[in-house]
Amino acid sequence: MRGEVLIVEDEADLAELVAFNLRQDGYETRTASSGREALAKVQQQRPDIVVLDVMLPDISGLEVCRQLRQQRETEMLPVIMLTARTEEVDRVMGFEVGADDYMGKPFSPRELVLRVGAILRRANPPATTESEEAIHVGEMIIDTPRHEVRVRGQRAGLTALEFRLLLDLAVRKGRVQSRDALLERVWGYAPGIETRTVDTHVKRLRVKLGAAADHVETVRGVGYRLRDELP
Ligand code: CA
Repeated sequence: MRGEVLIVEDEADLAELVAFNLRQDGYETRTASSGREALAKVQQQRPDIVVLDVMLPDISGLEVCRQLRQQRETEMLPVIMLTARTEEVDRVMGFEVGADDYMGKPFSPRELVLRVGAILRRANPPATTESEEAIHVGEMIIDTPRHEVRVRGQRAGLTALEFRLLLDLAVRKGRVQSRDALLERVWGYAPGIETRTVDTHVKRLRVKLGAAADHVETVRGVGYRLRDELP
């Protein structure tokens, strides 16, 4: 068993197609056909990852994602949003509410299965990462064993992906990391695609870090660097 996926989609044929492809690859699946049903099913039994359509008959997928992020038990639950390809707004909004990834419709079910695998691998990093000490950067503590970031003693409430991104920069503190390198290590993607994805997540990460936001430095034309000293 590779993990359980909750598929939230009101188009029954599409939900079944996605479920079929995931099961072929060894995942267990459950489906929900509305936003409220999705939230209820997550409460009943927490899945390992949620595939979440934006357009749902009751509350939107964006609202479902927002609600998951507001609760401590589900704030790190990985979410892939499904959006209409033409709707750039949905894509940006998806990241704003804390989605880990998105796929534009129509999408290849095979590609979705690969993305699910990539997200679950990074959500469950090898034990070596878990046992490392906390990393201190100014007034920010990246508490690796507890998978938690605190700024001036307050939890920053990062998603699993935001945590991975910050940790990736932190273990290479002071060294500039290109968007391609980050995409490859943090997202598990081939370089050269969707470098804007990195920018959108860094922006969101900075908002959550508040007073510590400026430790994440933009290096123009290259990428990002975590620095000890604030400017
Ligand atoms: Ca739909």
